[in-house]
Amino acid sequence: MPLFSPRRYQRPFLPVQQESVAMRVFTAVERAIKGSLFGCRMCGNCILQETAFVCPMTCPKGLRNGLCGGASPEHCEVDPSRPCTWYMIYERAERMGRLDKLLEINAPIDGARAGRETWLDMLAHWRAQEDGPQLLDLVLDREKFTAAWDRFFYDLRQPDWWQGDAAYHLPVYEMPASQLEASLRVGDFVVTAEIAPPLGATGDIIEKKVGWLHDYVTAANFTDNASASARMSSLASSKICLEAGLEPVMQLQARDRSRVIIEADAMGAAGLGIHNILCLSGDHQRFGPGPMVKPDQFDMDAVQVLWMLRRMRDEGIYLDGREIKNRPEWFLGAAASPFGAPPKYEAIRAEKKINAGAQFIQTQPVFDYGRFLEWLEALDKRNLLDKVYILPGISPLKSSRAAHFMDENIPGVVIPPEYLERMDKAGDSQAQQEEGIVIALELIEKLKNTPKINGVHLMAVHWESIVPRLVTEAGLAPRFAPEAH
Ligand code: SF4
Repeated sequence: MPLFSPRRYQRPFLPVQQESVAMRVFTAVERAIKGSLFGCRMCGNCILQETAFVCPMTCPKGLRNGLCGGASPEHCEVDPSRPCTWYMIYERAERMGRLDKLLEINAPIDGARAGRETWLDMLAHWRAQEDGPQLLDLVLDREKFTAAWDRFFYDLRQPDWWQGDAAYHLPVYEMPASQLEASLRVGDFVVTAEIAPPLGATGDIIEKKVGWLHDYVTAANFTDNASASARMSSLASSKICLEAGLEPVMQLQARDRSRVIIEADAMGAAGLGIHNILCLSGDHQRFGPGPMVKPDQFDMDAVQVLWMLRRMRDEGIYLDGREIKNRPEWFLGAAASPFGAPPKYEAIRAEKKINAGAQFIQTQPVFDYGRFLEWLEALDKRNLLDKVYILPGISPLKSSRAAHFMDENIPGVVIPPEYLERMDKAGDSQAQQEEGIVIALELIEKLKNTPKINGVHLMAVHWESIVPRLVTEAGLAPRFAPEAH
C-alpha cells in the first residue's frame, strides 16, 4: 500500500517506444519510488501538486478532475475493497486549506509521455527557465519563491495543447444554439425528458415516444449506453428524434471513447443538426452485463470533454491544434449529483464543469428537497447560479419495490423514509403508481417555486407515457421561444 494514496487499480503504464538501457533503469527507479509513495502509474503528467499529493491515477476510472457520482466516504463504487481516491483528495486538500487548488482543469494524459521518466524532464525544464524557483528565495523572499514554484509546476502540468485553468469562460456566440437554449434564455420554466434508446435496430419506438412527448417537453435526452450496456447510439436516436419533430439532447459519455472519437461524434452531431450535448464521464464498465471490456476505458472525463468541446466551438480548434473552419454550434450540458458527496465537494465539481464549458446542468433525481437546497446553496456560495441553467431530475416512482431498489442501489439517489413509507402503504400496484405520481407532482411544485431553478428534467425511463400527465397536472405547458436556432 503506498504511503500517500490508495493502492493502484491497474499497473503502471509502459512507454510506447523502447528506450535506452540506461533510461529504462532510471525509469524503473523512479517508478519504484513513486509507486511506493503515491501508487504512481507513470502517467507522464504529474498533478500531485494540485491533488494534495494523492495520485488521481489510482482511481479506477482514472478521473483527473474530481469524483464520480458513485463516490462515497466508505469505498470506491468500482472496487469496494479500496477507498475512493477522490474522497481522499478532497479531504486532504481541505485539511491543507487547498480545496480551491482542485479547480484547475487537468489535461488527459499524453500517451507519448506515459510510462516515461519525469524527473529528468523536470530538471531540464527548471534549467531552461530564467525565472524558475530559486532555493535562495525560499529563505530571502518566500512570496517570490511560491509564485515561481506555482508557475513552474503549472507549466509542467499544463501542456501547450491544453492550457487548463480555474477561470470561467463566457461562451463567445450570441444567437442561441438550440430551442432549449432559446427557451432558457427567455426565462421559461423548461421541461426536458429522458428516453432510453431502443435495444433493436428500428427507430419506431423512438418515433412513438416522441409522439407522446412532442407537445409537452422542449427537448428529449437520449442516454448513451448507460450502465455500460449497449443500445442504439445516442447519436442515431437523437437524429431519429429530430426527424420526428422534437429537439434532442444527445448524451455523450467519455467511457469507451478516445478523445478522437469524442471530437468526431460531437462534430457529427452538429453536422446532423443536433446542438444540445450533455457531457458525461459514464458508468464504469464493471456495471455492464459483461463480459467486461479492458479496464482502461476512460481516455477523458466529463470535465475534459466539456473543456475540449467548448474550445472547439469558441476557439475553433481541435485538441491537436488544427483549425475548424465551420465551427460547431453546441449548447453544452453536464450532469450533477446533489446527493453524492458533501455539497461543498460537489460544488467544486460543479464549478469545474461550469468553468470548463457546461451551460446547463441536469441532476440526478431529486427526492430529498432539503438536501437539494443545501447543494444549491453550496453552488450559490461559489457564485455559480448565474452562470448555468439548473434542471433538477424528477423520477416518478412506479412501485414500492422500484423505490427501494433505487434508494439502495443507484449511486447518488436518496429517497427519504417518508416517501418510502408512503409508497409501501399505498396499496396495490395501481395505487402505488398513483402515489409515485403525486410525490413527483409535489416535488415539481416545490422546484417551480425555488429561485434559480430553470426547469425540470423528467426521468421516467421506460414509462415515458406518463410525461404528458405530469406536465399537464404540474401546469408546465411549454412555450417555444421564437428566436430558436
Ligand atoms: S468512487 Fe469514483 S471517483 Fe472514487 S475512486 Fe472510485 S471510480 Fe474514482
